[in-house]
Amino acid sequence: MYTGTTAKIKRFYELSTITDQINEYAQRVRAGQIECNLPPCSRCKQGSDSFKRHEARQRIFYTLIEQIITKIFGLLVRWRCPICGKIFTGYPGFILPYKRYVLPTIMEYSSQYTENEQSTYRNILQKNPAGYQKSEQQLDHSTIHRWITSLGSLTQIIRKAQDLILQAKPESTICRDLAALSIPSKKYRKKQRARVLLGVRQLFSIEGLYGLIFKASIFPNLATACSFG
Ligand SMILES: [Zn+2]
Repeated sequence: MYTGTTAKIKRFYELSTITDQINEYAQRVRAGQIECNLPPCSRCKQGSDSFKRHEARQRIFYTLIEQIITKIFGLLVRWRCPICGKIFTGYPGFILPYKRYVLPTIMEYSSQYTENEQSTYRNILQKNPAGYQKSEQQLDHSTIHRWITSLGSLTQIIRKAQDLILQAKPESTICRDLAALSIPSKKYRKKQRARVLLGVRQLFSIEGLYGLIFKASIFPNLATACSFG
């Protein structure tokens, strides 16, 4: 957990870089420098190395700048399978499919819930409120709940990352480390939710180790290869 000044500095640092990342990615999209990292076509199994760039599409990303929910315009590349014509979107590491908020924001709020035994949705939002400009509306706890549901469902990514870690480092304690993770019973009523919360903790744990071993995040390449499943 981060507290006080450190948290503010860390957050400011992360959020100023996310804006840079979105802008830099958009520049690379405009310059035609984005390579297709997609898995084979889900309809006809054609390899993605033959996919053609279909369009650059503008997208609005939501991030927090000093606790204000801020919209930033970015660009994503859409690719077309030359055989069947199906269109696919390529995602950079700072965004998940169908999510408006950037991944660092999603991960930060989600980890505050899953990685701290005492935290509740209410006290997370009391400590880190987030509001819209010129509006009374605030980030709602149901949004964090949904983020956790999404992260906790990335089970294929977790399995694949675990396989890769064990191939690279057979002596790794990753299996034991993941098995040792638990969720306090006050955080869930149904077993299904406990599994989701555990999935999020596994994802955070494995993302850290994967980064140490492969010097890269599981987002976007491994996640894309697993179709964000
Ligand atoms: Zn196809």
